[in-house]
Amino acid sequence: MTKPSLLILPGDGIGPEVMTEVRKVIDWFFANRDLEFDIDEGLVGGAAYDAHGVPLHDDTMAKAQEVDAVLLGAVGGPKYDTLDFSLKPERGLLRLRKEMDLFANLRPAQCFDALADFSSLKKHVVAGLDIMIVRESTSGVYFGEPRGIFEEGNERVGINTQRYSESEIDRVARSAFELARRRNNKVCSMEKANVMESGILWREVVQKVHDEDYPDVELSHMYADAGAMQLCRWPKQFDVIVTDNLFGDLLSDAAAMLTGSLGMLPSATLGPIMANGRPKAMYEPVHGSAPDIAGQGKANPIACILSFAMALRYSFDRGEEATHLENAIESVLADGLRTPDLMGPEGGTPVSTAEMGDAILKALGN
Ligand code: NAD
Repeated sequence: MTKPSLLILPGDGIGPEVMTEVRKVIDWFFANRDLEFDIDEGLVGGAAYDAHGVPLHDDTMAKAQEVDAVLLGAVGGPKYDTLDFSLKPERGLLRLRKEMDLFANLRPAQCFDALADFSSLKKHVVAGLDIMIVRESTSGVYFGEPRGIFEEGNERVGINTQRYSESEIDRVARSAFELARRRNNKVCSMEKANVMESGILWREVVQKVHDEDYPDVELSHMYADAGAMQLCRWPKQFDVIVTDNLFGDLLSDAAAMLTGSLGMLPSATLGPIMANGRPKAMYEPVHGSAPDIAGQGKANPIACILSFAMALRYSFDRGEEATHLENAIESVLADGLRTPDLMGPEGGTPVSTAEMGDAILKALGN
């Protein structure tokens, strides 16, 4: 049987620093669990521009299309700010998302008990929170035509068009139901079917996909504005939320901040199902390359390590190992270890990027 494959793209700024810690974690799993991947490493963003004059080389793009999962650090930095738009580091990331057709953006909001004080909500509301927002990311109002600013009479009008086809809704709904089956088997679909035709179609298609292929998953529907309210009131009522590009943009940012620091937030984007039955996938921390702290050992590696945990669970069918890794992170945080971004008023033991990685390895045990 061929081994699962992983392409690692550390990128720029703190990307390579946090990825070094992920590599230690991967080595731990290779040594201590029955786990093996074919790992390849490549360049993206400014690092690729420095080496090849483009933010993503065609060879790297081709590799990304072949592997089971891509794990990316971060791209960008002031050094590249004056480059032509087409050469900017972020173009490398966008090319990956576009050519891999990654249409489902997964943003978990997971609150480790030890960091519950970081949330702007009350501790009991967020402690132990673990929800997943699935945002459709390649269609909707950000892409629909017609769009533009037009003259109309003696003034200008700005137009964007919310547009969804049945197939676009169908595929993102399937991603959400598949994820729910690996979690707590509940999906809440959010739209504005009360005032938008695209919302009516969204609701119909999600319900149809459910009834035909996922009747075992509990499905509910909620208007997105009510959903925003419920997210703040009692977020633990949700497991998987599936929603469109615009509502998902807002809801996932709000949900992410329920849990505190940017240094803690992983993400994934999933695409079409491949011949092996798994979706194309790219995993990456939500944060950027953080040039203000790059090279100083201050970066929190947990967002990137949690992105690898997502890859274990969603691309490699290794949910148990993912939980083991998340538990190790939880215990290190409970012991009070804090990179500078996690240092709150209650204090803690200050640690560097590498020390945080080492502590997680120790907590993984053997
Ligand atoms: P950023 O996420 O890099 O940093 C925002 C703030 O959060 C900074 O103060 C930074 O020090 C802090 N921070 C971020 N990640 C952290 C971590 N792991 N540990 C501790 N602190 C952390 O966003 P920015 O400053 O707006 O952008 C910097 C560069 O990153 C830009 O070039 C931007 O285009 C790029 N960027 C890339 C991505 C990506 O690769 N996906 C995402 C956002 C921004």
